[in-house]
Amino acid sequence: MSEYRFIKWFEELSKKDVPLVGGKGANLGELTNAGIPVPPGFCVTAEAYKYFVENVKVEDGRTLQEWIMDIISKTNVDDSKQLQENTAKIRQKIIELPMLPEIAEEIERAYKELSARFNKDAVYVAVRSSATAEDLPEASFAGQQETYLDVYGVDDVIDKVKKCWASLWTARATFYRAKQGFDHSKVYLSAVVQKMVNSEKSGVMFTANPVTNDRNEIMINASWGLGEAVVSGSVTPDEYIVEKGTWKIKEKFIAKKEVMVVRNPETGKGTVYVKVAEYLGPEWVEKQVLTDEQIVEVAKMGAKIEEHYGWPQDIEWAYDKDDGKLYIVQSRPITTLKEAKSEEKAEVTEEAEVILKGLGASPGIGAGRVVVIFDASEIDKVKEGDVLVTTMTNPDMVPAMKRASAIITDEGGRTSHAAIVSRELGIPAVVGTKVATKVLKTGDYVTVDGTRGVVYKGIVKSLVEKKEEEKAAGGQVVVAGAPLVTATKVKVNVSMPEVAERAAATGADGVGLLRAEHMILSIGQHPVKFIKEGREEELVEKLAEGIRTVAAAFYPRPVWYRTLDAPTNEFKEMPGGEDEPDERNPMLGWRGIRRGLDQPELLRAEFKAIKKVVEEGYDNIGVMLPLVGHPEQIRKAKEIARSVGLEPHKDVEWGVMIEVPAAALIIEDLIKEGLDFVSFGTNDLTQYTLAIDRDNDRIAYLYDEKHPAVLKLIKHVIKVAKKYGVETSICGQAGSDPKMAKILVRLGIDSISANPDAVELIRKTVAQEEQKLILEAARKRLFEDEDELDF
Ligand code: PEP
Ligand code: MG
Repeated sequence: MSEYRFIKWFEELSKKDVPLVGGKGANLGELTNAGIPVPPGFCVTAEAYKYFVENVKVEDGRTLQEWIMDIISKTNVDDSKQLQENTAKIRQKIIELPMLPEIAEEIERAYKELSARFNKDAVYVAVRSSATAEDLPEASFAGQQETYLDVYGVDDVIDKVKKCWASLWTARATFYRAKQGFDHSKVYLSAVVQKMVNSEKSGVMFTANPVTNDRNEIMINASWGLGEAVVSGSVTPDEYIVEKGTWKIKEKFIAKKEVMVVRNPETGKGTVYVKVAEYLGPEWVEKQVLTDEQIVEVAKMGAKIEEHYGWPQDIEWAYDKDDGKLYIVQSRPITTLKEAKSEEKAEVTEEAEVILKGLGASPGIGAGRVVVIFDASEIDKVKEGDVLVTTMTNPDMVPAMKRASAIITDEGGRTSHAAIVSRELGIPAVVGTKVATKVLKTGDYVTVDGTRGVVYKGIVKSLVEKKEEEKAAGGQVVVAGAPLVTATKVKVNVSMPEVAERAAATGADGVGLLRAEHMILSIGQHPVKFIKEGREEELVEKLAEGIRTVAAAFYPRPVWYRTLDAPTNEFKEMPGGEDEPDERNPMLGWRGIRRGLDQPELLRAEFKAIKKVVEEGYDNIGVMLPLVGHPEQIRKAKEIARSVGLEPHKDVEWGVMIEVPAAALIIEDLIKEGLDFVSFGTNDLTQYTLAIDRDNDRIAYLYDEKHPAVLKLIKHVIKVAKKYGVETSICGQAGSDPKMAKILVRLGIDSISANPDAVELIRKTVAQEEQKLILEAARKRLFEDEDELDF
């Protein structure tokens, strides 16, 4: 190891080094020095960041640090427009300024040294930011939790280190630092550069049994490939229970492991789900993942880490394909152990006493301690396994939603943010309770039934046990068996690229609706602002990143990307959204393709993002226009696509949503503009046909997608589309309703796109209905052909 000024290898670090390398870096150093085999790597220290900002000069000769502090001192953080603009300027500057040669040289040398440990010129690494003011809560660094996986080559590493640095200056992080009285000039950032594990097998381990709370037992879950499959719950892993000290394997459950996650063999970047039987061979599906010796090796490693920290740990581990060794990727304390919360006791009851009712928005049972929050600045309060209770969720709350065992909201319907996101994450949710934040208090214990929309007092034993049984039986969200083949395709709706792989693992025939709203809202700033600030490229890249993730997870299955459809009231909520017009009725206002055509710069950015991904070889993308009502809207949108070099029908399939009765009534005229497909947005089609605001609780009882008027419009469109050979689909919430699915199969729809949790049920329903139809037809012929049926 040669001398470095700006680099610290993990071997040189311990938990005392938070000021130099941040929390993540220090923890990795601590583990390394405790003899724990973490994948090797180094930190580009906070010193490097400091040296960079203090030595790099801006145009007028001042140092970057002086320039930043000057901007910050003139920024009123309560003026969100100003805050957005100024922090964007800072981030842009950090990314734009070239890396100082003295730092670049060291990063290059360290990266080569790291690669040489594996006898390679370059290795895949992960680059992560690690903040140095660790006592700041997570929200203070929101947006700064940057992680770049599968980074390869020196230039890429340097680029990502600068991107991590820039993330210190997101509007959100700056705002929280200001509000919490942190001195901006004293918060630095380190970047962790760590070899990626090329996992052959991987999983998680709890050094105390999380089900029984027995501290003498270690529970290990194991499956093939990358750890993501186990962590996301897409596969039922093997489970081994080991007794501490005697190292006796007390229990072994060998699961049927149908899917696994591997690095995308086609692109060499990112990951994909593959079938174990095809990728490794059929005999691997029911093979024990870890040998008995490995089970004990993993367990002993767990005990060692627990001993080091003095508290049971939740650990991610993996065996590397390249060197066959065991690696520890992550270790955190288990926070859900009963002893951890002495002051509050979970009330376990036999009786199911209903305390709240709402809409069942995401199925399943969840139980735990309630945490009531009112905005994203409070998300740190929500710990693993808590029940998140809030008025209405928003994209900034997603990190807390991921940790929650269930979600309850006051507001919203089945197509609200909370409902869509929790379904995708597979977390039970009850929305629209009206009073949850008033009735429930932080520290209460509840059981949530997301299927029936009911919340019970305490931890209801029978319900929770039922859930455990379901889990042991393989869970109900992801299909493990060979998917049924149906003539009517069954697709899935996706709005968060991070769950694309989980959605793909359902075996769905494609994505019938990729919503852009979540991607755009989670970028953290109004998209038009990005463009006005001359940062269109950044916006395009972020969008392309999301689209690419989904297109890759499903390749070669088709993915229909719907262009942005956020109403003005949702845009207004975003930082930089102050200029959004106030509309009397946003549902009837400036949204969908109308808005896209009025603000062509936005549509252009979306098409550029698609073009970028298409050029990378993804020929499975379709473009879908929302809220179309006039033929010229299709024509104009195509012109905009062509203006950025994206050719409808050739580069991408082209289609529209049928959401406005007018579109259904003039379907022939729309088709004549040239369409590959149409998809029913029944959420809107029902609202506009029946004149019922889809978000209005008071009249929700009248809202019915199966109303004869809605079905009549659907029937007409399918009939005309068939005549012209245009594919028909549905992507509204009704596609997840088995009764609706049956009707649609009978009407001859080509595909049904359901929510991830409903794909399995809809596939079964469709298969049954198709067989019934065939049987009916066969019987009819039989009776016609055979005059005398003598029994
Ligand atoms: C619909 O209207 O049915 C639809 C799928 O779009 P959204 O819910 O996003 O309006
Ligand atoms: Mg709609």
